[in-house]
Amino acid sequence: MGDIFLDVCEIFYSLQGEGPYVGTPSVFLRLGGCKPPYCPFCDTKYAWSEFRKYSLSKLINEIKNYRCKNIVITGGEPFIQWNAGLDKLVGHLTSFCSFIQFETSGKVEIPEGIPGKIVCSPKYLEGKWQFVENNFSRCDYFKFIADKGNLSIILQFIKQNQIPKQKIYIMPFGTTREQQLDIMPFVFEFCMRYGFKMSPRLHILCFGDKRGI
Ligand code: SF4
Repeated sequence: MGDIFLDVCEIFYSLQGEGPYVGTPSVFLRLGGCKPPYCPFCDTKYAWSEFRKYSLSKLINEIKNYRCKNIVITGGEPFIQWNAGLDKLVGHLTSFCSFIQFETSGKVEIPEGIPGKIVCSPKYLEGKWQFVENNFSRCDYFKFIADKGNLSIILQFIKQNQIPKQKIYIMPFGTTREQQLDIMPFVFEFCMRYGFKMSPRLHILCFGDKRGI
């Protein structure tokens, strides 16, 4: 186990701030690296390059030390490390975690049949959705970051791909409380109009762009 290493950006304990499990106390494992094209609005740009190698055993010990049985594996883009050892880590986590959640943009292939829930936030970049077709059936939930200018693009993606409403959460764009509050009424009305669930982004509302929360 000691000879497998993953690129880890940060590990911390917090409340899940957004999406279907909002408010849930969780350990966050943020893996390093993402796949281009990168999002200009990315709120975790540091994860693109700020990471270091953790052995599997060190990682498992650190996660266990939090004594929290919910884990969120996020990034960057976590699935770029699936075959590099994330698969092994997840195998170990299933023995002591009661809930595993993966956060992904869906721009790399999500492995089939993995334990836990997949929460996907697809990104529209360079004139198209950066999303692997096979991933549609592998995502348990979709969360879209909505700005005043991209509501129609989101709606078109949802309709074209027949994503069921119960899988959809719409969240306000913005990395500051002020930006969030400015866009929230538009997201609220959009969700009312089309019958989508709205998700806040509690970590930003409470702490702005503070890291590790
Ligand atoms: S996919 Fe996620 S981590 Fe990667 S650049 Fe976009 S927002 Fe950032």
